[in-house]
Amino acid sequence: MSEEKKRTIAYLCPECRQSVIVERSLFQLAASRNHLPCPCGKSAVEVEFNGDRAVLEVPCLFCGTTHTVTCPTRDFLHRRALAFSCAASGLTCCLVGEEQAVFPEVRRLEETVDKLPDRGKREGTFLDEVIMQEVLSELKEIAARGGISCTCGSKQWRLKVDYSSVSLTCADCGGTIRIPAGCADDLDDICCKDKLVIHGRQ
Ligand SMILES: [Zn+2]
Ligand SMILES: [Zn+2]
Ligand SMILES: [Zn+2]
Repeated sequence: MSEEKKRTIAYLCPECRQSVIVERSLFQLAASRNHLPCPCGKSAVEVEFNGDRAVLEVPCLFCGTTHTVTCPTRDFLHRRALAFSCAASGLTCCLVGEEQAVFPEVRRLEETVDKLPDRGKREGTFLDEVIMQEVLSELKEIAARGGISCTCGSKQWRLKVDYSSVSLTCADCGGTIRIPAGCADDLDDICCKDKLVIHGRQ
Protein backbone atom coordinates (compact mmCIF):
# COMPACT_ATOMS: atom_id res chain seq x y z
CA MET A 1 0.00 0.00 0.00
CA SER A 2 1.50 3.27 -1.07
CA GLU A 3 -0.74 6.00 0.24
CA GLU A 4 -3.26 5.77 3.02
CA LYS A 5 -6.77 5.82 1.71
CA LYS A 6 -9.01 8.64 2.88
CA ARG A 7 -12.71 9.30 2.92
CA THR A 8 -14.42 12.64 2.72
CA ILE A 9 -17.61 13.15 4.67
CA ALA A 10 -19.73 16.24 4.16
CA TYR A 11 -22.95 17.61 5.59
CA LEU A 12 -24.70 20.92 6.11
CA CYS A 13 -24.67 22.28 9.63
CA PRO A 14 -28.25 23.16 10.64
CA GLU A 15 -26.96 25.65 13.21
CA CYS A 16 -24.60 27.83 11.19
CA ARG A 17 -25.78 26.73 7.71
CA GLN A 18 -22.22 26.12 6.52
CA SER A 19 -21.14 23.03 4.68
CA VAL A 20 -18.86 20.90 6.79
CA ILE A 21 -16.30 18.77 5.00
CA VAL A 22 -14.08 16.42 6.98
CA GLU A 23 -11.52 13.92 5.92
CA ARG A 24 -10.72 10.72 7.76
CA SER A 25 -8.40 7.86 6.92
CA LEU A 26 -9.87 4.39 6.75
CA PHE A 27 -7.78 3.60 9.80
CA GLN A 28 -9.25 6.48 11.82
CA LEU A 29 -12.76 5.57 10.76
CA ALA A 30 -12.41 1.95 11.72
CA ALA A 31 -10.74 2.68 15.04
CA SER A 32 -13.76 3.88 16.98
CA ARG A 33 -17.05 5.75 16.91
CA ASN A 34 -16.42 8.90 14.91
CA HIS A 35 -17.61 12.28 16.04
CA LEU A 36 -17.27 14.68 13.13
CA PRO A 37 -18.20 18.15 14.34
CA CYS A 38 -18.88 21.41 12.54
CA PRO A 39 -16.25 24.04 13.39
CA CYS A 40 -19.06 26.04 15.06
CA GLY A 41 -19.30 23.23 17.63
CA LYS A 42 -23.09 23.08 17.56
CA SER A 43 -23.64 20.01 15.41
CA ALA A 44 -21.81 16.87 14.39
CA VAL A 45 -22.18 13.76 12.29
CA GLU A 46 -21.67 10.49 14.14
CA VAL A 47 -20.39 7.47 12.31
CA GLU A 48 -20.28 4.01 13.75
CA PHE A 49 -19.65 0.59 12.27
CA ASN A 50 -21.98 -2.13 13.25
CA GLY A 51 -20.59 -5.29 11.71
CA ASP A 52 -21.12 -4.93 7.99
CA ARG A 53 -23.24 -1.80 8.27
CA ALA A 54 -22.10 1.77 8.65
CA VAL A 55 -24.54 3.77 10.76
CA LEU A 56 -24.57 7.56 10.49
CA GLU A 57 -26.41 10.14 12.48
CA VAL A 58 -26.78 13.26 10.42
CA PRO A 59 -28.18 16.55 11.70
CA CYS A 60 -30.34 17.86 8.88
CA LEU A 61 -30.50 21.47 7.84
CA PHE A 62 -33.57 20.90 5.70
CA CYS A 63 -36.00 19.46 8.23
CA GLY A 64 -34.24 20.27 11.49
CA THR A 65 -34.16 16.70 12.80
CA THR A 66 -31.35 14.16 12.98
CA HIS A 67 -31.48 11.33 10.45
CA THR A 68 -30.11 7.90 11.19
CA VAL A 69 -28.98 6.42 7.90
CA THR A 70 -27.09 3.25 7.13
CA CYS A 71 -25.28 1.62 4.26
CA PRO A 72 -22.99 -1.37 3.84
CA THR A 73 -19.60 -0.72 5.47
CA ARG A 74 -17.92 -1.70 2.22
CA ASP A 75 -19.79 1.04 0.33
CA PHE A 76 -19.04 3.58 3.02
CA LEU A 77 -15.33 2.86 2.80
CA HIS A 78 -14.92 2.24 -0.90
CA ARG A 79 -17.68 3.66 -3.08
CA ARG A 80 -16.68 6.71 -5.08
CA ALA A 81 -19.61 8.69 -3.76
CA LEU A 82 -22.64 8.06 -1.61
CA ALA A 83 -25.46 10.48 -0.94
CA PHE A 84 -27.87 10.19 1.94
CA SER A 85 -31.07 12.12 1.69
CA CYS A 86 -33.46 13.72 4.10
CA ALA A 87 -36.62 11.65 4.36
CA ALA A 88 -38.76 14.75 4.76
CA SER A 89 -37.46 16.88 1.92
CA GLY A 90 -35.79 14.38 -0.39
CA LEU A 91 -32.72 16.63 -0.44
CA THR A 92 -29.24 15.29 0.12
CA CYS A 93 -28.16 15.87 3.70
CA CYS A 94 -24.89 13.94 3.80
CA LEU A 95 -22.23 12.88 1.32
CA VAL A 96 -19.49 10.34 1.70
CA GLY A 97 -16.83 9.37 -0.78
CA GLU A 98 -13.70 10.42 -2.56
CA GLU A 99 -12.77 14.04 -2.25
CA GLN A 100 -13.02 14.75 -5.98
CA ALA A 101 -16.49 13.22 -6.13
CA VAL A 102 -17.85 14.81 -2.96
CA PHE A 103 -16.69 18.40 -3.50
CA PRO A 104 -18.80 19.26 -6.56
CA GLU A 105 -21.86 17.75 -4.87
CA VAL A 106 -21.28 19.89 -1.80
CA ARG A 107 -21.13 22.99 -3.98
CA ARG A 108 -24.48 22.04 -5.47
CA LEU A 109 -25.98 21.58 -2.03
CA GLU A 110 -24.70 24.99 -0.98
CA GLU A 111 -26.57 26.48 -3.92
CA THR A 112 -29.73 24.72 -2.78
CA VAL A 113 -29.29 26.13 0.71
CA ASP A 114 -28.85 29.64 -0.67
CA LYS A 115 -32.28 29.34 -2.24
CA LEU A 116 -33.95 28.31 1.00
CA PRO A 117 -35.55 30.92 3.18
CA ASP A 118 -33.61 31.69 6.31
CA ARG A 119 -34.59 29.60 9.28
CA GLY A 120 -35.22 32.67 11.39
CA LYS A 121 -37.32 34.28 8.71
CA ARG A 122 -39.29 31.14 8.17
CA GLU A 123 -41.33 31.73 11.31
CA GLY A 124 -44.75 32.86 10.21
CA THR A 125 -44.28 31.40 6.74
CA PHE A 126 -46.98 28.86 7.44
CA LEU A 127 -50.64 29.31 8.15
CA ASP A 128 -50.15 27.23 11.26
CA GLU A 129 -46.58 26.44 12.23
CA VAL A 130 -47.48 23.61 14.62
CA ILE A 131 -49.84 21.86 12.20
CA MET A 132 -47.24 22.13 9.44
CA GLN A 133 -44.54 20.59 11.61
CA GLU A 134 -46.88 17.77 12.65
CA VAL A 135 -47.92 17.06 9.08
CA LEU A 136 -44.27 17.01 8.00
CA SER A 137 -43.37 14.60 10.75
CA GLU A 138 -46.31 12.33 9.80
CA LEU A 139 -45.11 12.45 6.21
CA LYS A 140 -41.64 11.55 7.36
CA GLU A 141 -42.95 8.50 9.16
CA ILE A 142 -44.94 7.37 6.14
CA ALA A 143 -41.83 7.90 4.00
CA ALA A 144 -39.68 5.97 6.46
CA ARG A 145 -42.02 3.00 6.06
CA GLY A 146 -41.69 3.27 2.29
CA GLY A 147 -45.35 4.28 2.07
CA ILE A 148 -44.98 7.00 -0.56
CA SER A 149 -45.15 5.93 -4.17
CA CYS A 150 -46.44 6.99 -7.55
CA THR A 151 -48.94 5.18 -9.76
CA CYS A 152 -46.16 5.11 -12.41
CA GLY A 153 -44.28 2.72 -10.13
CA SER A 154 -41.68 5.19 -8.93
CA LYS A 155 -40.73 5.60 -5.30
CA GLN A 156 -38.61 8.69 -5.92
CA TRP A 157 -40.28 11.95 -5.04
CA ARG A 158 -39.64 15.52 -4.02
CA LEU A 159 -41.34 17.49 -1.32
CA LYS A 160 -42.35 21.11 -1.50
CA VAL A 161 -43.67 23.01 1.48
CA ASP A 162 -46.14 25.83 0.87
CA TYR A 163 -48.07 28.19 3.11
CA SER A 164 -50.85 25.79 4.05
CA SER A 165 -50.03 22.62 2.15
CA VAL A 166 -47.29 20.26 1.16
CA SER A 167 -46.90 18.77 -2.27
CA LEU A 168 -45.13 15.61 -3.29
CA THR A 169 -43.89 15.39 -6.84
CA CYS A 170 -42.86 12.16 -8.51
CA ALA A 171 -39.25 12.48 -9.60
CA ASP A 172 -39.86 10.25 -12.59
CA CYS A 173 -43.12 11.34 -14.19
CA GLY A 174 -43.75 14.69 -12.52
CA GLY A 175 -47.17 13.73 -11.15
CA THR A 176 -48.10 15.51 -7.91
CA ILE A 177 -50.25 15.14 -4.86
CA ARG A 178 -51.16 18.03 -2.60
CA ILE A 179 -51.54 17.46 1.10
CA PRO A 180 -53.36 20.20 2.99
CA ALA A 181 -51.54 21.25 6.15
CA GLY A 182 -53.39 24.22 7.50
CA CYS A 183 -55.74 23.01 10.22
CA ALA A 184 -56.33 20.25 12.73
CA ASP A 185 -58.58 18.33 10.30
CA ASP A 186 -55.73 18.19 7.81
CA LEU A 187 -53.53 16.69 10.46
CA ASP A 188 -56.21 14.12 11.39
CA ASP A 189 -56.48 13.18 7.73
CA ILE A 190 -52.83 12.40 7.32
CA CYS A 191 -52.52 10.70 10.71
CA CYS A 192 -54.86 7.92 9.64
CA LYS A 193 -53.00 7.22 6.41
CA ASP A 194 -50.28 4.66 6.12
CA LYS A 195 -49.78 5.13 2.39
CA LEU A 196 -49.72 8.04 0.00
CA VAL A 197 -50.07 7.51 -3.71
CA ILE A 198 -49.06 10.18 -6.19
CA HIS A 199 -51.21 10.14 -9.32
CA GLY A 200 -48.74 9.70 -12.13
CA ARG A 201 -48.91 11.59 -15.38
CA GLN A 202 -49.04 8.56 -17.66
ZN1 LIG B 1 -22.02 24.76 12.34
ZN1 LIG C 1 -34.03 16.08 6.99
ZN1 LIG D 1 -44.62 8.93 -11.30
